[in-house]
Amino acid sequence: MAFDLRSILPQLLPPAIAWAELQSRQAEHEGQNLNPEGLELAKRAGVKRPELIRVKTVDHLPLPAEPLLRQAAVETGLLGPGMVGLTLGYCIFVVGGYMTPRLLSHECRHVYQYEACGSIAAFLPVYLEQIATVGYLNAALEQDARAHEGGG
Ligand SMILES: [Zn+2]
Repeated sequence: MAFDLRSILPQLLPPAIAWAELQSRQAEHEGQNLNPEGLELAKRAGVKRPELIRVKTVDHLPLPAEPLLRQAAVETGLLGPGMVGLTLGYCIFVVGGYMTPRLLSHECRHVYQYEACGSIAAFLPVYLEQIATVGYLNAALEQDARAHEGGG
């Protein structure tokens, strides 16, 4: 294994949370509100406050500058090549040209998960622990998000 996320997770969590909170705060001002169809889709995903969701269209998903954090994000597949969506709190980042109802419903389910946990700081330790333990595809929170893909 090139990278043992489990062993370094405790040291990665604080910078990961700080980075995610900063990205989310910035996108709050730059992102777009959902249109009526998007709001409906978010409600179906279980989101309690869909009006708080902001969607920011980007050329590339944001990547942490901190080398270890960046390496972890890429090697686990979280922010690796081919990833076109990322949800941080109420902010959904989507690479331009890749927005579909299916992707939006998946990311909205992550918003629901953040709401259920209560905050970015409460969600990320659970989510990253799952990814560190069983991998991105098998993480329960990813399986839950895939199970709520729809709108196609
Ligand atoms: Zn996901």
